[in-house]
Amino acid sequence: MAASEAGRPNLALRARDLATDPEAPQWVAVCAWVPGTGHCRNRDCSDACLLRAQCEADAARVRRWRRLRRIFRRSAG
Ligand SMILES: [Zn+2]
Repeated sequence: MAASEAGRPNLALRARDLATDPEAPQWVAVCAWVPGTGHCRNRDCSDACLLRAQCEADAARVRRWRRLRRIFRRSAG
């Protein structure tokens, strides 16, 4: 049934955990993470930030993507 979700179980689970965490709304209000950039603009954002794991996973994805793009550009000319 949920075969399409089998490839990314951890992120989906984390997101669901976040949504049920009583502290989540507070962190969502404080955290200035911009999805897709892997970067949190809030300098005061601490290790305790619930969104940090999401942000770091996002950052890793962005880094991989940038590296790929650089490789493709180089090969293109
Ligand atoms: Zn943050």
